[in-house]
Amino acid sequence: MKKGKILLISAPSGTGKGAVIGELRSRRDDIEYSVSWTTRAPREGEINGVHYFFKTQQEFDENAEKGGFLEYARLYSTSYGTPKDYVEERLNAGKHIILEIDTQGALNVMANSKPEDVISLFILPPSMKELYRRLAGRGTETAGKVAERFAISYKEIPKANSYKYIIINDTIAQAADRIEDILAGNGEKYFNNDEMKLFIKALEEETLL
Ligand code: ADP
Ligand code: 5GP
Repeated sequence: MKKGKILLISAPSGTGKGAVIGELRSRRDDIEYSVSWTTRAPREGEINGVHYFFKTQQEFDENAEKGGFLEYARLYSTSYGTPKDYVEERLNAGKHIILEIDTQGALNVMANSKPEDVISLFILPPSMKELYRRLAGRGTETAGKVAERFAISYKEIPKANSYKYIIINDTIAQAADRIEDILAGNGEKYFNNDEMKLFIKALEEETLL
């Protein structure tokens, strides 16, 4: 059986990764999602084993110690990690596995995998104003956390340049179409070209005022 690919998807918090991935998974059954471990508390509606495996710091550290993560990172005072055995098992079963992880973790996976085994993809918001609107509108973080995540997004955006493909999440359906296009082997139009570099620069320079 043909081994699946690791589909690395990163984006600043609030861009719409979760929404786009949800759309993609509802369309296809050859794409699965690796449920990460986290030490943060569940948000309303989040289910243990579905959105994350919610763990104590001690459980997390023990798993890291015994090499149980493909990668792990500490963000916003929380630990997040990708379980190694699960990903290997599903790739060998011929499934593509989405890793919805931060840029630090994604760079680790890129560095430690064969390029042909990985599709790296960064999702950008259509504008910083819209990113702020989505982040605040989600209503899952306090105002302080929204401000913290929004400020961090300015540092995250230039990291798009380390990814092979970049897409914009203007509508959820269009963003999912673009990812399907990449999976079908038509990804050249989403390479990080000069036009995209200018768009990234414009986002970095856009302020809310
Ligand atoms: P992330 O997983 O990147 O942190 P979410 O998927 O939670 O982001 O999306 C943040 C908020 O923006 C959610 O309320 C979601 O419904 C909304 N959203 C996502 N994509 C779009 C879009 N293309 N247009 C409008 N709202 C969107
Ligand atoms: P959230 O708390 O909003 O669900 O996620 C915060 C950040 O953690 C997001 O950027 C998300 O991509 C990242 N993240 C989630 N799981 C993992 C993981 O297993 N590894 C790494 N490195 N980052 C993760």
